[in-house]
Amino acid sequence: MPFIDLKAQYKALQPRIHARINQVLDHGQYIMGPEVRELEEKLETYTGAAHCITVASGTEALLISLMALGVGAGDEVITTPFTFVATAEVIVLLGAKPVFVDVQADTGNIDPAQIEAAITPRTKAIMPVSLYGQPADMDEINAIAERHGKIAVIEDAAQSFGADYNGRKSCNLSTTGCTSFFPSKPLGCYGDGGAIFTSDAALAQAMREIRVHGQSKRYVHTRIGVGGRMDTIQCAVVLAKLERFDWEVQRRLQIGARYNELLDAAGIRRVQQQADRTSVFAQYTVLVEDRERLQEVLKAAGIPTAVHYPVPLNEQPAYRGLCAGTDMPVSAALARTVMSLPMSADLEDAQQVRIVNALASQA
Ligand SMILES: *Cc1c(COP(=O)(O)O)cnc(C)c1O
Repeated sequence: MPFIDLKAQYKALQPRIHARINQVLDHGQYIMGPEVRELEEKLETYTGAAHCITVASGTEALLISLMALGVGAGDEVITTPFTFVATAEVIVLLGAKPVFVDVQADTGNIDPAQIEAAITPRTKAIMPVSLYGQPADMDEINAIAERHGKIAVIEDAAQSFGADYNGRKSCNLSTTGCTSFFPSKPLGCYGDGGAIFTSDAALAQAMREIRVHGQSKRYVHTRIGVGGRMDTIQCAVVLAKLERFDWEVQRRLQIGARYNELLDAAGIRRVQQQADRTSVFAQYTVLVEDRERLQEVLKAAGIPTAVHYPVPLNEQPAYRGLCAGTDMPVSAALARTVMSLPMSADLEDAQQVRIVNALASQA
């Protein structure tokens, strides 16, 4: 069985995907064609955010958000060390400093109770990650940012597009929300892609300009920008996939709930979900002590697993010099024990039972 079943998804959507891609080939507007705005409008409606700006990747979405907010040398951005490297990378690329705050042991999301102590006069933004598809504690984080004046909140929602949080959608919970359409994310394309969401019109305008080399009119470069557009064909793929997305999210919730039940019955520890939000389970993650052995055993049984993430960013060679002295014990413990199981909307019930049985017989 595959770790993420993209082939089954393709089979189910094949005629729609082909029709959408063929339309682009017929009209020939490969860059900023009509599908780009069509997708942005659909995603604005889906999330409730006033503005969606599609971009070249999730990484680019984070980078452009920080650029539009004016983050640069001397600034600090508070974030989590228990994430994919892109989250901290964009901060460093702009000459700013990532300030890591440890995570909650049960969810892996940044611990809001520890954020306030990390705020200094240089703090320009807080960048929580909605890890494994479950929104971080955005209300608490927004409240902290507000109490301290002009601190922006950027949700790294690369894994959580489609998740609900207190009746609102992930990506529409803070100053900006950034998602990724990397193929294996809950809503993926067939290459690289991403999107930024905001309800601040001035910020949206700045991000649209930064996406195209800081251009406010053709060959008028009002600000420093990047080449950060999403290809029309990739937008067309996401448009086709959106037609089944509500069903996929429902399936992900069902499969996640079933994993919870089966694993709890087998006494296997797992990442927890909070009652006021949903997770779209970009990853379904258990906590195990002898991970390497279990991965081998499952692999031999034809069950692929993955580790998100084996090393917290504050311990990575390129980052540890930037945050000397920071101790992140919860992230370190999670990095040692997390193991993700096969997860996708097309995972079959029988496959799920086989996965849990194989794990339970060994754990
Ligand atoms: C995937 C991911 C990114 C980067 O997205 P890309 O589209 O691959 O650039 C950033 N942050 C997190 C948490 C991710 O999972």
